Amino acid sequence: ASTDLTYCRVLLKLSGEALLGTDREFGIDEQVLRTYAKEVKKAVELGAEIAIVIGGGNIFRGVQNAMKGMTRAHADYMGMLATMINGMALQDALEQVGLQTRLQSSIKMEEIAEPFIRRRAIRHLEKGRVVIFGAGTGNPYFTTDTAAALRGLEIDADVILKGTRVDGVFTADPEKNDDAQRFRAIHGKEVIRRGLKVMDMTAFTLCQESSMSILVFNMGISGNLRRVLKGESVGTRVHW
Ligand code: UDP
Repeated sequence: ASTDLTYCRVLLKLSGEALLGTDREFGIDEQVLRTYAKEVKKAVELGAEIAIVIGGGNIFRGVQNAMKGMTRAHADYMGMLATMINGMALQDALEQVGLQTRLQSSIKMEEIAEPFIRRRAIRHLEKGRVVIFGAGTGNPYFTTDTAAALRGLEIDADVILKGTRVDGVFTADPEKNDDAQRFRAIHGKEVIRRGLKVMDMTAFTLCQESSMSILVFNMGISGNLRRVLKGESVGTRVHW
């Protein structure tokens, strides 16, 4: 891995909802996928090691709305399967731009993905392969944010990168509030004190316990992932 980068090994969390693009209610927008793949490629070309955790909201929220009375744990397993669909879509998009990838699943699906094996994931990264972690943590009652924090810690990532549709953490919701201000950096305790949303509490607490920084940035702006890796002032860094 390159040494002149601020972040050499990163865990990139992509929400499923971002895959919707601008005019879908569910499913995957191919254009968004292609854009993401190109961004990741630029990052790998810089010498960064990239592991990705992807959400499932774009597929699963639709199912959830249709079946409100479903048992929570059962629905959560369906949500984890949704992340595998996204993971496979992302894997294909990454390979189409010429990257080498491996998909590892927290729930065994031997025909389509490797099982999650920590040391193996690290080895893939060292060889320049992009590793996608699917099926969340493998446990109901958790989220893919928590999976991102957990896997990020396990692979000894330098930072958790939360790629979103907004430019970072703001004083108020920037999609609803015109005079919302972006923080360049903010302490994790301040995030909690102000009731700001960065990740769910389980994920956030995991990061806090290991002083893992979280960098929230806009994944929709071309070149941003690269800028983040180089340490340029993009997004909001949450530190401890
Ligand atoms: N999920 C789960 N355990 C995990 C990760 C995910 O049960 O470790 C389920 C949960 O139902 C969640 C869904 O999978 O709602 C999709 O993940 P998430 O909502 O985190 O995706 P995102 O909002 O990032 O698209």
